[in-house]
Formats: sequence, structure tokens, C-alpha cells
Amino acid sequence: MSVELVHGYAAKALGKACQPFSYKPPPLGQHDVRISVTHCGVCHTDIQAIQNYYGITNFPFVPGHEIVGTVSEAGAAVVGVGVGDRVGVGWQGRSCGKCVWCLRGQTQLCMEIEKTTVMEPYGGFASSVVADYSFVYPLPPTMPSPVGAVLMCAGVTVYSALRTHGAGPGVKAAILGVGGLGHLAIQFAHAFGCEVTAISSSPSKEGEALQFGADRFVDSHDKTGMRKLDYGHDLLICTANAGINWEALLMVLKKRGRLVLVGFPDVAFNSTDLVAHELSITGSLIGNPPMMRAMLSFAQQHNITPQVELMPMSQVNEAIQRVKENKARYRIVLVNDTDSTGG
Ligand SMILES: [Zn+2]
Ligand SMILES: [Zn+2]
Repeated sequence: MSVELVHGYAAKALGKACQPFSYKPPPLGQHDVRISVTHCGVCHTDIQAIQNYYGITNFPFVPGHEIVGTVSEAGAAVVGVGVGDRVGVGWQGRSCGKCVWCLRGQTQLCMEIEKTTVMEPYGGFASSVVADYSFVYPLPPTMPSPVGAVLMCAGVTVYSALRTHGAGPGVKAAILGVGGLGHLAIQFAHAFGCEVTAISSSPSKEGEALQFGADRFVDSHDKTGMRKLDYGHDLLICTANAGINWEALLMVLKKRGRLVLVGFPDVAFNSTDLVAHELSITGSLIGNPPMMRAMLSFAQQHNITPQVELMPMSQVNEAIQRVKENKARYRIVLVNDTDSTGG
């Protein structure tokens, strides 16, 4: 199979639509596996990367980092996964293994972060990808592949943020944004035993937010409703990427409460409340391999179920447009319909 080309979809320049793009399969290192992609979720960060928002995108750029597929080839030093296994891989496909963060096991903070993404050289909107086996996760047999795909980035991102920042019984958690990440954050926070407030700028999402496990729903444009939340929450997970009224939002935290950003919104606010209420603001990035494995088993145990729209991979640009227009309910997963040369 090594002579067959990989068929993917690439943005060939800054901000451009994805186009069919064929390339030689990247070489397989000793610790690498090659995965024939069956499913790949569409994450907001794919769209930001096409815009080179993070300043590390190389074109042509094949997005896609919520990947599920079948192992088609394994390097000589690979253990624990083998050819034929159904696996998932998320944003991180490898790490340097040598820096202080890798040595501490916090591989998501690897100092060579721009080399760690599974989208380097090419991501999951393609017939196959290559990743280090340490970042490849066998899926529970009963977990549907689209569910596994969404858990690989959206799932671990919100699970890790909640777990790291103390989610549990007696904790009041607010989730800003009911989208790809937010609808999972509500489910995970509820499963952790938190009392959950969902805040969204889309009132039409109220019914589903309550079904996902929110105890209450507030429209972020409803000033009276928002003020009722003041000083009410220990933890605020921000999954939204734009249109955020930061000062009104920070008011929903108790004194010494914590805001955790899991997306990449632009942030600006007057610091008065931050200081006067001794608030903390932090970010949370994906999760390391132990966190990923714990998330998968927690999701299985608590029946965490992403709500997914399936679209053929050949409609990648339509899928991206739906995400941009906030129409996805709640995550789009692309089903590989390229000719099956990847494996
Ligand atoms: Zn993502
Ligand atoms: Zn490292």
C-alpha cells in the first residue's frame, strides 16, 4: 500500500476552501501506526488553523484531528495496538519525549508543540494518517465510531478542564456556549455530579441543553436572567469563541471562582472584578494520554453521547460552513467517502 497515494482535502493557502489533494503517504517511524480514516470530526480549531490564527499552519494544510479509523500498518516498536484495531487519535499525534513537560507526563504541554499535532504533516480529512502509538487509543467495542471521533478532541478537552479544576458533587459549574464542546461539557459536568448552568446566545438550544443534563439554561442576551446567576458558580467553562460579554460573564462566578478557557476567544475586560473578587482565569488544552484513556472509560460508563451530524468527507466545505454559521447540532463528523486507497 505504500505506493498508493493518500487522498485528502487541503486548504492550499490562507483562508481558502478545502480542495481534493493527493500526496505520498508520510513515512512510518518505528513507533508510528498508520490509520485508515473512517470518520473525522470538524472542530472549530480546524477552521481557525485554516485562517492561521495560531501562526503555525503550513500550506497545503489538511485539517482534521477527531479521527477514528483502522490500523493498517504498525512500526516495529509499536506495542498495545495492532493492524486491524479500531482506534481514535485526537489533536496530539506525537511529542518530543525529552522536554520537561514530556518527562512529567504532561505531553500536551510539549515544548515543541507545533510538531505535536496529528495534522503535521497532514490531518484526518484524508484517507489515512500517521501517529505515534502512544497517542492512539483503542476504542471500547460498543462505542460507535462517530462518538469516539468527537470524544478525541471535544470530549477530552472539556473532560480534562472539568476534572483538573475540581468538578464534582457540590460544585456549581456554568458552561458558556452550547456547541460542539459545550454540549459535551454539560454532559460531563452533570456526570461528575455538578449542578450545571448552561449559558448560550441561542435560546433555541434550551430544550436540548436541559436534556444534556443542565439544571438551568440562561440566554446570554437576557440581562435580567444573567444577573440572577451572579456570584452563583465555582467554575465557569468557556467553550464559546466569539461574542462574549466578559464583564457580565465574570459576575456569574463566586468570589475566588475560576474561569477556564477551552476555546481560543479574544479576551478583553476591565480588571476590577477580577481583582476585587480574587478570580482566577486559566486555559486548558486537550489532555495527556492517561487523561484520554480515563475520559474514554468515564464516557462509556456514564453514557456520554455527543449529538452528531454525519456528512460525507467530500462535503467538507459545506460542513465547515455549517460550523461557521453555528448551524451544526452539535458536532459534524465526516465519513470518509474517498476511494478506499488508504488501507
Ligand atoms: Zn479540536
Ligand atoms: Zn516535549
